[in-house]
Amino acid sequence: MSSKDNEYNDVWELVKSSIDISKEQFDKMVMDVYNKAQSYLTLRAAALIVARNLGVDTSQVAYPPITGRLIEVGPVKKSRSPRGETPYVLFSIVNEENRISCVAFGEHHINLLKNSDDKVLRLRKYTKAKLRKYTLVKITEDSIIEVLDDNKLPPIIDLKPAWVDNLSELKEKRGTYLVKVLVIDESTTEYFACPICGKGLELVDSDWICPEHGEVEPEVKKVWRYLVSDRTGTYPAVYFGDVSEGSLMNRLVILKGYFRNDELQIQKIYWVSEEELIQGV
Ligand SMILES: [Zn+2]
Repeated sequence: MSSKDNEYNDVWELVKSSIDISKEQFDKMVMDVYNKAQSYLTLRAAALIVARNLGVDTSQVAYPPITGRLIEVGPVKKSRSPRGETPYVLFSIVNEENRISCVAFGEHHINLLKNSDDKVLRLRKYTKAKLRKYTLVKITEDSIIEVLDDNKLPPIIDLKPAWVDNLSELKEKRGTYLVKVLVIDESTTEYFACPICGKGLELVDSDWICPEHGEVEPEVKKVWRYLVSDRTGTYPAVYFGDVSEGSLMNRLVILKGYFRNDELQIQKIYWVSEEELIQGV
């Protein structure tokens, strides 16, 4: 029995909010039911039976909570309905077993997701949605996304479903993954960025214009350009973040990124080898 099948906190929350009962009483009733048919029940199943017998509507916990680290969040889109426009984003989480594709609706969830890169999330009260040929976990405005303690899951680099084996596979898949590469060329250039969102600015009639925020005071930022390599090929890469190690030249790097056209967009750098792999050539 996996530990997930023994978690019934969400069932308890539902019971607690519906009827007047102590946790001790509820736990005892769950154990009583569980002990009657251990070969056919998990503690969670027993809790659902008790809740149902108590007259609690358990339909909203039909899908057990999902825990995973947030690996990617897509751009904000808008869905239109007769009730108006609702913003939504596609996102993915990973845990030890799976990579799970999800969609979240509403400002509140979007803001939480935008600030939770790599964090451990628990999704509750979700439903499922079909998008083309995929089934997605659907976070509606009534669903709950919680940020859990970081130690609830291993670090993202220890989660197998977060990885691709090589750059060619990363290019084929449409999404953000971890990959290990060798940096074989490096350069840096400066650009003028929006102080609010970091996007590149355009010079229009001697004013600096952000596509999102209009006229702003520009900030000078660095962009790193690399050529990265593995046994499947060499690819140009770009990184807008800070590199605490300084030069990555000739080093092995574990990074998170995705391909836009033929260019690898580096989102985050997790590890850089201390030694240069190729020296004194
Ligand atoms: Zn901006």
